[in-house]
Amino acid sequence: MRRNALATLLAFLTFAASGCAPGDSVGGDAETPADLVVTDGRVVTMDDATPEAEAVAVRDGRIVAVGSADEIAAYVGDDTEVVDAAGRLVIPGFIEGHGHFTGLGDSRMILDLTTATSWEEIVAMVEEAAASTPAGTLIRGRGWHQEKWTDTPEPNVDGVPLHDDLSAVSSEHPVYLTHASGHASFVNGLALEMAGIDDGTPDPAGGTIVRDASGRATGLLRETASGLVGNLRAGEMTDEERAERFRRQVELAGGEALAHGVTAFHDAGTGFGTVDGYRALADAGELPIRLYVMLRVSNASLAENIGDYRMEEYGGGFLTVRSIKRSIDGALGSHGAWLLEPYEDLPSSAGLNTSPVDDVEETARIAAENGFQLNVHAIGDRANREVLDLYQRAWDATGIGGSDLRWRIEHAQHLHPDDIPRFAGMGVVASMQGVHGTSDGPWVPEKLGDERARTGAYMWRDLWDSGAIVTNGTDVPVEPIDPIASYYSMVSRMMNNGEVFYPDQALDRVESLRAYTINAAYSAFQEDVMGSITPGKYGDLVILSADILTIPEEEIPSAEVDVTILGGEVAYRR
Ligand SMILES: [Zn+2]
Repeated sequence: MRRNALATLLAFLTFAASGCAPGDSVGGDAETPADLVVTDGRVVTMDDATPEAEAVAVRDGRIVAVGSADEIAAYVGDDTEVVDAAGRLVIPGFIEGHGHFTGLGDSRMILDLTTATSWEEIVAMVEEAAASTPAGTLIRGRGWHQEKWTDTPEPNVDGVPLHDDLSAVSSEHPVYLTHASGHASFVNGLALEMAGIDDGTPDPAGGTIVRDASGRATGLLRETASGLVGNLRAGEMTDEERAERFRRQVELAGGEALAHGVTAFHDAGTGFGTVDGYRALADAGELPIRLYVMLRVSNASLAENIGDYRMEEYGGGFLTVRSIKRSIDGALGSHGAWLLEPYEDLPSSAGLNTSPVDDVEETARIAAENGFQLNVHAIGDRANREVLDLYQRAWDATGIGGSDLRWRIEHAQHLHPDDIPRFAGMGVVASMQGVHGTSDGPWVPEKLGDERARTGAYMWRDLWDSGAIVTNGTDVPVEPIDPIASYYSMVSRMMNNGEVFYPDQALDRVESLRAYTINAAYSAFQEDVMGSITPGKYGDLVILSADILTIPEEEIPSAEVDVTILGGEVAYRR
């Protein structure tokens, strides 16, 4: 095994030194047969040296050659698995640029509220769950969004109901329903009672216990207020149950990712315990896809443990940990995004600063001093400006040239026009989600007003043209892990209501594919091992049912992932 890997490496280095002309079959020796060959495809590599080919050979998990079908036929031996692409598009595996891996698995284990079109429907789902769940057991759900309901419940506060109907059907079960944005939760009366929340409970820093006119808690908890019932969520589980739940989450998330052509996933924020779990699975060869994990822990814990948690291409390239996640504001939909000027539809508020700037700046210093990447969630224009400013201050304070650190801003949804060129200027990656633009689009102008929305919201084109690295992803489970849907959003800006959201900011199809592959690899320091179909990189490939680079635009959403290949093995077939 080791000798083969060494031979592959030597072959790759020999090639690299030989200055092969583009268009030639490139890669290692054909004397040793490949483990897998994909042939007769339209291979679009995302590698400028050899942009297109017909076939790819993979050996020992890595791509060894890319070329014409005839050239690559030389790599087929008795034991080679040959995948006939039959003229279909072959591209690098998609890299989910920002998602929540265990959250994705968990979302398959709890009530899925994403398609509910009314509050009554959600109450009915909870009632049904309560009937089949032992009294006292927590009922969880995820993905509700009041903007998706056909009518506004009565009574309500800001369009969100009071908990009475819900509590009436779940008097013996605590209920915890996470908002689609992940930035608010709705709980029932028993959960409020168990968490000790009453009329006199003060709002925690960076959060709101939403109350009605009489001062009674409605059940809606914004931002950090959800943490008041956090113990309730984690409680009552043995260590074995917890471990079993984790394995199940990873397994479900991996299956879901591979079925959508996702071979690598940027996991946007976990604690050390989850990383320990990932590391154990990596040691056992049981991680289902490649994970790039961002640490999300307190500064004190970070400073103490950061040295033990740096991993690069660990476990055969399945686990990398070299980045830190922080968050500075909330979401636009729940008026949590931190703005420079108040909301158009809520003039009393300019949003929430969910973590003190000083505290995030301290994280930035720890990250810079340890050579870690820092990825801060920022949605509103004030939040984005504060983060760019504090990045610069941390680099100045530590004397470290920050552009090599590839720090990112997660979401970067709403920017003041003056701040757009700062991303490229500072080398800050815009870690964005195409699908957020089109699913938020219908209500963004009423929240920000037309002028701010047009010049500052989801500015993919302006960022790209200014030289910034833009990536794509879904923030799953906020949105489904569907790269084709989020790719289509970036290409078209087409919203579900059939209207187009400020189309000037769309990217073209090749740019959008770069965002999902090589740019995402760059944003994780992994462009030497993934993100394009290039000899020496991991054999992570996807075959699509339709050519999303050439078919009529409106047909893109119906394209499907036919085959996903991970490390040279077929990991999913439709
Ligand atoms: Zn997220």
